[in-house]
Amino acid sequence: MKCDEIRERMPDVAAGFGEPTVDEGRHLDSCAACAEELKAMRATMALLDDWQTPEPSAYFDTRLQARLREEMAEPHAGWLQWFRRPVLAAALTVVMGVGIGLYFARSGIYGLGPTESSLPAERGTAVSDLQDMEQNHDLYSNFEVLDDLDVQPDAVANP
Ligand SMILES: [Zn+2]
Repeated sequence: MKCDEIRERMPDVAAGFGEPTVDEGRHLDSCAACAEELKAMRATMALLDDWQTPEPSAYFDTRLQARLREEMAEPHAGWLQWFRRPVLAAALTVVMGVGIGLYFARSGIYGLGPTESSLPAERGTAVSDLQDMEQNHDLYSNFEVLDDLDVQPDAVANP
C-alpha cells in the first residue's frame, strides 16, 4: 500500500465513515507520516464536531421581513426590464469585440501591413520624435550617452 492510496480515503476514516482496512492499518503502523496525518485530520474533525454555529441576531427575521416588504412595494418595470438586460450584455459584447478587432488590426497582426498611423511623419516634428521614441525604445533606454547629458540633474533615465 502506498501513501497516496491511503491518503485518498483518509478524510472518510477520520470523519468516522469507515474503519481502516487491514492493509491500511498495517501501513499506518509502519508509516509515521500517514499516522500523523490521520491523527491531525481526526483532531480537525473533532474540532468541527464541537463547533457551534453562531446564532443570527434576534432582529434578523424582522429586518429581513421589512426589507422584503420594501422590495415588494417598489414599482416593477414590467417585462421590458427582462428584455433590456440581455440586450445590454449583447451590445457590450459586440462593442468589446469590435474594440479588440480594431486593436489587432492596428497592430498589424492580421498582416494588413503598415496602417496610416505608422507612416513616418515629417522629420523634426513632435509626431516624428514620438514615433522615433516608440520604435527605438530599447535603444534609447539603454543609451548611456543620454545619462551624461546635463539637461535635468535629478532625472535618471534608468531608475
Ligand atoms: Zn504512508
